[in-house]
Amino acid sequence: MSNAWTIEISRIFVLAVIAILFGLISGYWGLAIFLSSLVYVTWMLVQIRALERWIRLGAKNQFALDTSGIWQLIVQHIVYAQRKNKERKRRLSYMARRFEATIAALPEATVVINSHREIELTNQASEEILGIEKRRDLGQRIDNLIRDPKLQELIESEESPARLEMESPIDQRKTLSVTCVDFGEEQKLITARDISQRIAVHKLRKAFIANASHELRTPLTVITGYLELLESEPDMSDMVRKQIGNASRQASRMQKILDDLLTLSKLEEKGYDRESGVMIDMPGLIQKLVTDFKKTKAKGTHQIEVDIDPTLQIKAVESELYSLCQNLLSNAVKYSPEGSTITVRWQRKEDGYTYFSVTDNGEGVAPEHISRLTERFYRVNVNRSRQIGGTGLGLSIVKHILENYGGFLDIQSELGKGSTFTAYFPKYRTIEYEKLAS
Ligand code: ADP
Repeated sequence: MSNAWTIEISRIFVLAVIAILFGLISGYWGLAIFLSSLVYVTWMLVQIRALERWIRLGAKNQFALDTSGIWQLIVQHIVYAQRKNKERKRRLSYMARRFEATIAALPEATVVINSHREIELTNQASEEILGIEKRRDLGQRIDNLIRDPKLQELIESEESPARLEMESPIDQRKTLSVTCVDFGEEQKLITARDISQRIAVHKLRKAFIANASHELRTPLTVITGYLELLESEPDMSDMVRKQIGNASRQASRMQKILDDLLTLSKLEEKGYDRESGVMIDMPGLIQKLVTDFKKTKAKGTHQIEVDIDPTLQIKAVESELYSLCQNLLSNAVKYSPEGSTITVRWQRKEDGYTYFSVTDNGEGVAPEHISRLTERFYRVNVNRSRQIGGTGLGLSIVKHILENYGGFLDIQSELGKGSTFTAYFPKYRTIEYEKLAS
């Protein structure tokens, strides 16, 4: 038991002894009990009043009355809780100051909005990038200050983080990359950065590749034509014929690279478009492709099995679908041994995604290469790819076609065992179109 409680009980004991003595001497037991109780209750009331006054005045000074009993213990607890509270407050305000300083130092425009879209916090960069001034705009609704439907879309998005690119609200020539993340209690953290320079460089690069490919195409066609003409010349030594044949093959390869580069440029230029394309008979297209392959590239070398849902059609551009399927199938033929089986599937998954997949039992790809296969000119074995007529651009084209449709490419591969390349198309490319058609 604590000392304070011992003191308090001793006090009650002393009062009880006095009351008993008074009762024994006077014989008035009732009066003795009443008086002793009255003394104790009065003492308690005086203490409670003092405590109430002490708390009312901010619990700052020393507690004036009882400095030893139960009241002192209560006061000690209050003082301790108060001190802890102060410490917590101090720590919280330190953290809040640091948080504000961090946000202020960020080079990206950073704005925190509440559930009513009112600005709660902003930094210096927001002024330069979004035109939001801390002093003027704090407490204002962000959608009143930036009236761009894309921003609305971003804030309303259910994704977190949600990202999009939009025009700068203060300079139409600039493009911003804006991100919105859910944070705290129904708050959102919006960050924006200027990506105009990156976009300009990207455009320049794209334009350069497209122009260079275009410019090189005509002279190369002429050279290829002459080489073909020379090859058919009868009066020629074997050595010269061999060299001309070599040059002709290299020129054709260059032509193929230029064609692929131009295809890539066009796909990049086109970008994502939810509405593009018409209804395509994909089962028919795949069957035709497989039949062609059986007669040409895979003739006598590979077994091609198909597992096709004949009812599954898709809204797309036929030439792009053809190029996608053709690239994946020709890779399977190129990178799997003669006599092996290739399986082509066109099916829908339970989650609604439609997929075209090609499975082979070929050489497979080591895990460290898989994520890089869709980069331009990335090849696991450059010499081998060149020998078998690869350009290193096929998977890059496949990836771009899928991105433009809102789909993606999945690669599962095991070295020495084989690979499955799967092109996934989003639900709306098939399901919504079916609805439209019915
Ligand atoms: P390439 O013209 O060289 O085939 P791609 O872009 O089509 O270019 O493919 C890139 C690289 O990915 C290839 O060089 C090859 O190393 C690897 N690859 C693609 N498909 C397969 C496959 N089915 N099996 C094993 N490796 C593959």
